[in-house]
Amino acid sequence: MVRVDFNVPLDEMGEVADDTRIRATLPTIDYLCGDGAKVILISHLGRPKNFDERFRLDPVARALSRLLNRPVRKVDRTVTDEVIKAVNELKAGDVLMLENVRFNPGEKENDPEFARALASLADVYVNDAFGAAHRAHASTAGVAKYLPAVAGLLLEREVSSLSRLLGNPEHPFLAILGGNKVSDKIGVIERFLDIVDALLTGGGMCFTFLKAKGFNIGDSICQEDGLDHCRRMLDKAEKNGTPFYLPTDVVVADAFAEDANHKVVSANRILNGWMGLDIGPETVEIYRDVVKRARTIFWNGPMGVFEMEPFSQGTRAIAEAIASSGAMTIVGGGDSDAALKKYGFEDRISFVSTGGGASLKLLEGSPLPGLEALLDK
Ligand code: ADP
Ligand code: MG
Repeated sequence: MVRVDFNVPLDEMGEVADDTRIRATLPTIDYLCGDGAKVILISHLGRPKNFDERFRLDPVARALSRLLNRPVRKVDRTVTDEVIKAVNELKAGDVLMLENVRFNPGEKENDPEFARALASLADVYVNDAFGAAHRAHASTAGVAKYLPAVAGLLLEREVSSLSRLLGNPEHPFLAILGGNKVSDKIGVIERFLDIVDALLTGGGMCFTFLKAKGFNIGDSICQEDGLDHCRRMLDKAEKNGTPFYLPTDVVVADAFAEDANHKVVSANRILNGWMGLDIGPETVEIYRDVVKRARTIFWNGPMGVFEMEPFSQGTRAIAEAIASSGAMTIVGGGDSDAALKKYGFEDRISFVSTGGGASLKLLEGSPLPGLEALLDK
């Protein structure tokens, strides 16, 4: 039984729009099938509360079948008699995909009964779902209590690549953080302030920091309940002597829209009625210079609303600088990865993690339940 993270985006037709996460598990699946295992795949897709037609895994099974170039049988349930029958019919090297595991409420509750029922289908549990390893769910953690549980090749590669940042990174070590929510990043910022040589910030989250410094941020996105944390982080950076870069200029718009009026202003001159949606050109120059000198770079979170053309320059420029740096580069986060792909820099990054949330949790030093369950053995 292999837990994979096939939580992939679907297009308007309901087909897989980006198969990166599926491709990333092919080494594990190939390895197991090649050794004559009967492979049962489990994954979630989206955030359904219970059964939801839109989140069935059929399109995912079709995409996997194309990539493996052989049939992948898909069943419409996870632990019923129909599934047991399908498992019993498996031959060496066959692949069977169960239905979206989150259709069963026992999944997110980490219900021991559900975990036991899943476990009863197989002899060995392999966790290859790094993107879900920070969740203590039945199929990511619970099931490991009832079966010999080991890491898959992707999970192993993710953990070893990310752990290199915490072990003995080449200096200067630079962290670049952006994206929209400051709350997701507080833990990792705190940890990074002890290990990096400089921190660059952008995206929506930097406005809570700008406000914490006393700047007027107009209508920019701000997380009021994060202000204290931000002040503490700025203090810590100062105490540690770690340069903590905030944008000096920003692209502001009068609406959150592609066709909004927009202009570049100094970061301390954002007026009410305007919101910051990208870092400005002066900031890009400053950041580029820091990136150029780094030997190790971790990047999570776009520098602006790169999905809208007028606010994409900062993200594009920083992505290009990272790709051209010659440093060891590690990128985590679905949107950051999407930006790399959009601008064609993906192949020039040392390692792109398939887990945004999970990579931040690992780097901040929080235990990952999906991993802990394996280490117990
Ligand atoms: P990742 O998926 O790489 O971890 P996040 O999910 O944290 O990144 O953040 C990505 C989102 O942040 C993008 O959808 C982007 O539009 C948004 N974003 C970036 N800058 C801003 C900003 N200034 N204001 C609002 N949203 C922003
Ligand atoms: Mg995201």
